[in-house]
Amino acid sequence: MLSLPAVTPSLPSPLTPLSDPALSRAGVELRLKRDDLIDARIPGNKWRKLMPNLRAAVEQGHTHVLTFGGAWSHHIRAVAAAVGPAATGVIRGDELATRPRNPSLAAAEADGMRLAFVSRADYRRLLRGLDEPGVREELRRAHGRCYVVPEGGSNALAARGAAMTAAELPDLGARDVVCCAVGTGGTLAGIAAGLPPGARALGVAALRGDGYLEGEVARLHAAGWGRPFANWTIDHGHHGGGYGRVPPELERFATAFEARHGLRVERRYVAKALLAVHRLAGGPLLPPGTRVTVVVTGPPGEGATRSG
Ligand SMILES: *Cc1c(COP(=O)(O)O)cnc(C)c1O
Repeated sequence: MLSLPAVTPSLPSPLTPLSDPALSRAGVELRLKRDDLIDARIPGNKWRKLMPNLRAAVEQGHTHVLTFGGAWSHHIRAVAAAVGPAATGVIRGDELATRPRNPSLAAAEADGMRLAFVSRADYRRLLRGLDEPGVREELRRAHGRCYVVPEGGSNALAARGAAMTAAELPDLGARDVVCCAVGTGGTLAGIAAGLPPGARALGVAALRGDGYLEGEVARLHAAGWGRPFANWTIDHGHHGGGYGRVPPELERFATAFEARHGLRVERRYVAKALLAVHRLAGGPLLPPGTRVTVVVTGPPGEGATRSG
């Protein structure tokens, strides 16, 4: 059976001003939008993006959810926490099927999610073909009738859910930039679409995706709002070498930020967004006088990182 998780989210999420010396010197104000505190098990942007999809699935009479992710996917974890026994996770990498589960996949299975491991080639093919009848039929034959949520949970409904983050920010105007890390682009698409005129959105790519990610955000705007938005850009200079990579310099920055402000920072996405803001402060994207609101899209976890 598929039913909505019985949890009470902390919404609206807190908005916290931070005084950071380096940013102050650049004339830039910093605030954190603490979406990481929405729920302990379905946190951050995963809550924003997942709940509208689960509501739609229940309304449409579905009893099972099928979704996609890598071995360390926060999205897979969130879906498992929300509706585990009513969900199947298609996991990238058939070599993982016979290996001991990493903590992320072990937790998903403990929550009752069924895991289906597929080769990287099949994974790509299935995701690219999600709108094609042939691929839908193939998935239906393999997994039964399911409500299908794409990789990272990013579809038009998810982006509309992410727009709520922007809607919760009061008094936004021409001096405001709302910044978030970008994985699949759903969160950035929603935030940009949810901003009032004048305010801008800055996405910081957490992986190598120059050009591709812009296309994804534009596609979500077309699907969710029927029009493009011109108020967003993606920075590609702070992914630290790729998805999951945390070079020593990023680690040093994150550790110092944590010590300065007394909070822990998720490394694979949030730390990259914060480092980008520090690097770009005072420059053309974040000129003096800018108020930056960094969306803390998720809490720190035990996720794997590769250095270098
Ligand atoms: C999943 C995730 C992201 C990426 O969000 P997209 O909507 O896929 O771009 C960013 N930050 C955190 C902490 C995440 O877990």
